[in-house]
Amino acid sequence: MFKIKSFIMVGAAVFASLSAINNAYAEKQVWEAADGVYKYSPGNGYASMFVVTDEGVIAIEPVNTKHAKGLLNAIQDVTDKPVRFLLHSHNHWDHSNGGQVFRDAGAKIVAHAEAYEWMKANPNPDLALPDDVWAGNRKDIVLGGKTIELHYMGMSHGLGMTVFLLPEVKIAYIADIVTPNRVGFAIMPDFNIKEWSRTLKEVEKMDFTKAIYSHSHARTPFGSKSDVTKTREFIQDLQAAIMAEFQKGTAFGNIPSAVKLPKYEQWAMYKEWLPLNVWRVMLDMHMGPFPWRPDHAYEGAM
Ligand SMILES: [Zn+2]
Repeated sequence: MFKIKSFIMVGAAVFASLSAINNAYAEKQVWEAADGVYKYSPGNGYASMFVVTDEGVIAIEPVNTKHAKGLLNAIQDVTDKPVRFLLHSHNHWDHSNGGQVFRDAGAKIVAHAEAYEWMKANPNPDLALPDDVWAGNRKDIVLGGKTIELHYMGMSHGLGMTVFLLPEVKIAYIADIVTPNRVGFAIMPDFNIKEWSRTLKEVEKMDFTKAIYSHSHARTPFGSKSDVTKTREFIQDLQAAIMAEFQKGTAFGNIPSAVKLPKYEQWAMYKEWLPLNVWRVMLDMHMGPFPWRPDHAYEGAM
């Protein structure tokens, strides 16, 4: 009896200390990546970035009103400088909602023309239309002596996909096209597989050593360029495994359950999503790349 009781007590103590660690981790929402450069992630699966300069703050990715309010509070915890810009990575509602919080705080909302056109055509009650629209492949914002480079990646995921680079501290903010330590997102929605691979190769050539990813299953708050390479290799390995099944003559409908990639077994959602990833990539190989659009369709549209 005594043994059982003490076992339970020890168990409860271990559980309590583990919970304390988990809570401590969950409570931490802001990480400093470099002097004045922060990651904000309140445990909802989304991460934003903000950059504090002498002349104000630049924030990236509002996500939704609740997230945006938390992000604004986090900014106001570290500085009393005003937020001057709110930048969007791409069109999708689950990243671009909540901008009004920043407009009310006096910030200008900035998006690529492609993302803007989509937002205008697809309103959402929580989506604030951007104030400033840019077109083409590149824009720099300089504030308080700090530069933030906006790189439009073309077809990849969604519309207006922008990778952000802070050249002085070699930090990148990357949304959706890389999620460290996780297989592809479900049915890989709105990804053009071929252009996604091309985009990842271009990101690998960019000059950065640390990355803040909008989603991550890594145990560390910051990622690196190797996460980009691993994602590109995952897509390649997936394509090769599907091709091998095509060559074996495996029936189309059986391929998603036949493909195994043990190298990625430890990645999050491996069991749940790998068959969905296979469906998506297999259809792309079978039908040809989609979604697709002509190049430069929106260049100079604004
Ligand atoms: Zn997206």
